[in-house]
Parts: sequence; C-alpha cells; structure tokens
Amino acid sequence: MKCPACEAKGLSSRVSDGGRTRTLLGWRPYFDEAGVEHHHDPNRQHRIYFCSNGHSFEIISRPACPAGDYPNELAQTRMFGATEPGPRT
Ligand SMILES: [Zn+2]
Ligand SMILES: [Zn+2]
Repeated sequence: MKCPACEAKGLSSRVSDGGRTRTLLGWRPYFDEAGVEHHHDPNRQHRIYFCSNGHSFEIISRPACPAGDYPNELAQTRMFGATEPGPRT
C-alpha cells in the first residue's frame, strides 16, 4: 500500500490505516434458474488511509459475485486533497 499522490510525485511516505466504513443496504443471496448462487451485494466498503505527507485517500470497493456476473467494478481510489489528518505525536 502506497499513497497514490506520493507515488505520482516519487515521494516516500508511511501510510496509516484510518479505519473503514460500509454502507448498509439490505440484500440477500439468491439461486438462479440453474441453481447457481449469486451474491449481488450493493454495499461499498470505504477504507480510509492517511499518509505521513498529509495526504488522505480512501479506497472504495464492492464485493464481486462468485458467479462472475457482478464484478467488483467500483474499486477505486479517491483522494481527499491535502487534508491534514491532524497533529501527530
Ligand atoms: Zn502522500
Ligand atoms: Zn451473480
């Protein structure tokens, strides 16, 4: 795991895990006409990271269906800009 902003600039930094959140939409797995199990989980997981150069970013992802028709296409990295995570001790 590297900070994408630092990686783009060739800087080195340490990245700390800022926690994760998850949307809470209801869903249920189902079995299609062929008896194949589908997990179409609409929830996105947001994982937040802070880098030691003051960048912060989150990685948003969605679980894929094991049957392969619901890919994890939302996996993306989003920068928060130059938000400082706060003073470090
Ligand atoms: Zn950075
Ligand atoms: Zn499916």
